[in-house]
This record gives sequence, structure tokens and C-alpha cells, in this order.
Amino acid sequence: MKDLVAKYAAFIKENVYPIEQDAIYGSFKAHLPRLNELRNLAKEHCLFAPHLSKEEGGLGLNLVEFAKISEVLGNSPLGHYVFNCQAPDIGNMELMHKFASNELKEKYLKPLQQGDIRSCFAMTEPAHAGSNPVHLSTTAVRDGNDFILNGHKWFTSSADGASFAIVMAVTNPEAENKYEKASMIVVPLDTPGFRLIRNIPIMGDVGEDYLSHGEVEFINCRVPQTNLIGALGQGFALAQERLGPGRIHHCMRWIGICERVLQMMCQRAVSRDLDINQPLAKQQTIQHWIAESYAEIKAARLMVLNTAKQIELYGAKAAKVDISTIKFFVSDVLMKVIDRAIQVHGALGITDDTLLSFWYRHERGARIYDGPDEVHKTVLAKNILKNYLSK
Ligand SMILES: Cc1cc2nc3c(=O)[nH]c(=O)nc-3n(C[C@H](O)[C@H](O)[C@H](O)COP(=O)(O)OP(=O)(O)OC[C@H]3O[C@@H](n4cnc5c(N)ncnc54)[C@H](O)[C@@H]3O)c2cc1C
Repeated sequence: MKDLVAKYAAFIKENVYPIEQDAIYGSFKAHLPRLNELRNLAKEHCLFAPHLSKEEGGLGLNLVEFAKISEVLGNSPLGHYVFNCQAPDIGNMELMHKFASNELKEKYLKPLQQGDIRSCFAMTEPAHAGSNPVHLSTTAVRDGNDFILNGHKWFTSSADGASFAIVMAVTNPEAENKYEKASMIVVPLDTPGFRLIRNIPIMGDVGEDYLSHGEVEFINCRVPQTNLIGALGQGFALAQERLGPGRIHHCMRWIGICERVLQMMCQRAVSRDLDINQPLAKQQTIQHWIAESYAEIKAARLMVLNTAKQIELYGAKAAKVDISTIKFFVSDVLMKVIDRAIQVHGALGITDDTLLSFWYRHERGARIYDGPDEVHKTVLAKNILKNYLSK
């Protein structure tokens, strides 16, 4: 495993670091040809799509092994993209692998796994609280052999340039159980009636392509009923299946960011002199930030690896509380480490001359998406308190 991790690290350093700054602060789209070359190079080196089974063209890693690779990929904002294991595609691949029909797998999953197309996941709506997405206005009404979809979604990440969306829509409004009203349906984005309204600007940054967050609408979008994933009304059950491992993937990536940011913090601390032979690193406050960051990253890594192991052994449902715990803990560590690194860099830290400002803006969403901190803390607290309340 150590050798494999080293191979990924060397690949990223040699091929991805040189273009990341321009691709992130310049045009991502303009760098797509080079990124596609790198994807082909990753295939040649047998490193592409490490999360997939060997039969599907991947490395057949288990979740703990993938966690270690994912950390290295997270060192660069482009790492996961180059190896085709970026969100939301990785979550969609896992979902379709488990629950899609053979026809859907052939038509959509295969090209997604091969990196020929991208996808997105459209659940959240501007009109309803995404933290508790049981109330959705988007509908999919059966008409002959088809569904007709109507609705308005936002934060459909990576919709710009994606080939299809997995859309969460109400198919069973009459269901008594609120968790059995919605279904997941594949909608190709060239379907008449689909519109990407805009890429939503995030903290001053209008992302594009895979780095975008789309506001989208579906007006009388007609797709065959065979585009249903799983069973009718199973949407929320599938969303839980998708989000459990998805949260692990995010946490692994965040630890990779933390590692790189800590390196930047240390490099700046030793190279920036306050006076002759007085580098910042000699200041106790800076030393404490480095020590605290190191300890927090180490704790976060161990918690994530342990949770990955729990999922492997007992499944995502059984590891629900552990998943909630790492989701808010690791995103908090991420925010703290990036913030300290910016402070150590002084004015340079808030410029776009380093990746720190990108991560500061881009990763603020970590405390919100896939469940805001408060929701996950409540899950954990309730689990702790149940032992006391029952007495
Ligand atoms: C960068 C980013 C990418 C995203 N990508 C996608 C995507 O690809 N597809 C998709 O469908 N969605 C996506 N989302 C949407 C995301 O899932 C929602 O933003 C999230 O579920 C929160 O919903 P909301 O924004 O409607 O906040 P609301 O539900 O309105 O909540 C607002 C705030 O209320 C507080 N709160 C909520 N519930 C509780 C509670 N139980 N207890 C205490 N406080 C609470 C929290 O502080 C929360 O931040 C993305 C979001 C972001 C930021």
C-alpha cells in the first residue's frame, strides 16, 4: 500500500501541481485538454479510478485503502478529477453500481466510470430546506411509459458540462410515509425542457464545468420510466446509501487539503524572516498553530480510517453515528488549519497567488453540504444521550 500511495503522490507532484494554480484561478475549461491527457496517463500507469473494482477498470481497493489514496489526491484541488473519483461522480457511480438496471449501467455508468462523461446529482431546491429534504416540489408524473419531470433545483454541483443528472423527484405524493414519496431518476441533460439557469457564484467565484454549482430547471422533461434507479418511492433510502460513503470521501479529501496546507504553513514559517535570522517559525504562537494543526489532522485521519473500517465491516447504516461525527469534526479541522495557514502567510494568504484563498472560499461549503454541522452534531448527541434518557 505504501508503494501505491507513493506512486500517486509522485504522479500528482509531477503532473498536477504544475497546472493546478492556472486551472483553478484561470479557466478550468481551457485546461480540459491537458487534464484529459493526464487522465489517459493515469490509465497508462494503471492508477485511474482507484475506487472501482478491477473488472470495472479500477484498482479494487477497499474503503480504508481508498482513504489513504484519497488523502494524497486531496493534496491538489485537481487530484480527484484526474483520477475520476471526484464528487459527485463517485457517489453516482457507487449508487448506480448498486441499484441501477443493467440498461442504465451500460448507457450511463460505463462511460462515467471510463471518464468519458460527467454527471450531477439534483436533490436540493431553493424553495425548501435542504437539511431535511423530505419536502420537494420537483415532480415526476407517470405518462404512458415515461416520466414527465417539472421542478427547480439548485446547488446541482458540476451540472455545467455534465451528461446526465440523477434527479430526486416526487413520484408518490400520496404515500403516507414522507420518506417514501420521492424517487431517483436519470435525466440526460440534452432532454428538451432541461435548462442550466446559471452557475451560482460562490464567494465571488463563478465556477465552471466540474467546479460549478448549477441552478437548473426541468420543464416537462420526458424520460422513459426505465430511467428509474431502484424502486418507486425509494429515493430517500437510496440517498442515505449514497451520502454515507460520500461523506467519507469528502473527509478523506479534506485531510489531503489539510496536509498540503500544513506543509505550506511550515514552509512559510521557516522562510519568512521578521528580522535577521528571526523566521516566523521562532514565534511560539506560530509553533502552537503548527502543533495544533498536526495533532488535529492526525486525530481526524485516525477517525476517518476507523469509520471507513466500520463501514467495511458493518455497512454505512450501522456506521451512521461515526459518519456524522467525522463529517462535522473533520470539516472544522479543515477550516481551522486553512485559517491558520492564511494568518501565517499574512497578506499573501488572502491573495490568489497561493491556493489558500481558493480552499478558504471553496471549502467553506464543507460545513453545509452533505448535512450541515448542526444536523450531524444532533445525530451524535442524541446517540450519546439515549443511554441517559432511558434510565
Ligand atoms: C458547495 C455545495 C455543494 C452542494 N452540492 C449539492 C449537490 O450536488 N446536489 C444537491 O442536491 N445539493 C447540493 N448542495 C446542497 C446541500 O446539500 C444543502 O445546502 C444542505 O443540505 C443544506 O440545505 P440548505 O442549504 O437548504 O440549508 P437549510 O436547510 O435552509 O439550513 C440552513 C441552516 O440551518 C441550520 N440547521 C438546519 N437543520 C438544523 C437542525 N436540525 N438543527 C440545528 N440547525 C439546523 C444549519 O446551520 C444550516 O446551515 C450543495 C451545497 C453546497 C454548499
